[in-house]
Amino acid sequence: MPYSGGERLPGEAASKLGHLAVVESRWVQALVKDFERSVTTDMDVSKTPWTTFDATGAAPLSRVWAVDGSFVPVQSQERPPREVAFVKTSLITVDKVKLDTIDKDHPHPLHLREIMAESGLFHSTVFPLKNIRTSMGSNYDTIRHIIRDSIPADADRAFYETLKWLAYQKWLPVPTRSPAFECPCCGVKIDNGLPPDADAAPCPHCKAEVFLTDMIGFHLDMGEDSAPDSLASSYMLVMEHLMLFTPIRLCWDHTDKQMLSETLFIKDGPLTLRSQYSKLVIPIRAFLQYAKTKGRPAHIIGQEKTGTFADHLASIVRFAPPDRRGEKPSCAVLSHEYVRREVYRAPDLLNPYGMRTNWGEKLYLKIDPGTHMVLNVPTGDYDPAPTFPQEADMIGLKRILATIPSLISHKYEGALFPIELANGIASMSNYPSAKILERFLVGKK
Ligand SMILES: [Zn+2]
Repeated sequence: MPYSGGERLPGEAASKLGHLAVVESRWVQALVKDFERSVTTDMDVSKTPWTTFDATGAAPLSRVWAVDGSFVPVQSQERPPREVAFVKTSLITVDKVKLDTIDKDHPHPLHLREIMAESGLFHSTVFPLKNIRTSMGSNYDTIRHIIRDSIPADADRAFYETLKWLAYQKWLPVPTRSPAFECPCCGVKIDNGLPPDADAAPCPHCKAEVFLTDMIGFHLDMGEDSAPDSLASSYMLVMEHLMLFTPIRLCWDHTDKQMLSETLFIKDGPLTLRSQYSKLVIPIRAFLQYAKTKGRPAHIIGQEKTGTFADHLASIVRFAPPDRRGEKPSCAVLSHEYVRREVYRAPDLLNPYGMRTNWGEKLYLKIDPGTHMVLNVPTGDYDPAPTFPQEADMIGLKRILATIPSLISHKYEGALFPIELANGIASMSNYPSAKILERFLVGKK
């Protein structure tokens, strides 16, 4: 998704509320009063645990991979309108030496093109959403088969292999069965999942053939004859994960055992998978923990440019150091308790924060007075404790922080240059599919 400009609530918008008739309610009155009050306050009551960080001694990571995606629903003119959705995701890689040569304020288009020509690859597909019938079958079956055929379609099946690698935890000496999932044909849960490394298998209940791609659960978002727009955004999100973990998988299997831990992997958006897609969170956390205990930590960040955390940071960041350019940057690792109390203001929710859905924890970062961002960093295993996480729990935080200052773009507030590049490809219409992954496969054992 593109970066949006910094926005402040205009004063006129707030005063319009005075004309509303519902101001009888004391709750509404309080809302209106607080709404009309400036969003910024004079002092910080959030007790945000800012600490200055000193990255001297930590070596910056030498290579960067970044992933981003976009989707567009397209409607025909007639009644009822037919609707399809195009989804496009992109993965780019740049080494830091090359990245350092780019002018981040005014990047030269030809210079960028030269870099992208050998470092970007993308994936795209199209879904029927409404009022489309194919000769092959119902919309429901069409989408199931499109997903089965799309994921292996690019990069010599590399993204599909990553799905198998995650689903069957293939980094383990003995791969597991896939996560449990609901059969798309009879709806009954297949508790034992699919057998190790299977692409498809008969459902134990109805005997219909189910695919590994059904395990992801896109069919739970669909009706018999139409699919909601959210299908496209869910597919985009899952593909961003599969693409990001493809170089991670290749680095993991590479003969050069240092390669994984010398690389920074960046995802646009939070490290989160909700609802049925959260079943992938379990193997992702398991891998990150496994890699950590093997002494080969994976350095991953997700950047949240919009949403609750970005808004919250914007409201308190001016109270945080540094006040002046040249001073040391600072960061704040947010504990579950802090997130509940200060960000969501809902301290009593039943489940510990992010337990089912998040594979990264939250971090605020302020590089200089004009540059701040919300980052997600994995911890491996999840800990439900209110005081979790602390700085030491975030995998490779010191080296990540040593790398970020050189990735800052000055085109947008708090933007990371590799995400801008990935975003550029995700929205480019006819980019040649580069064979970048092959270069990695050549060195494979
Ligand atoms: Zn079944």
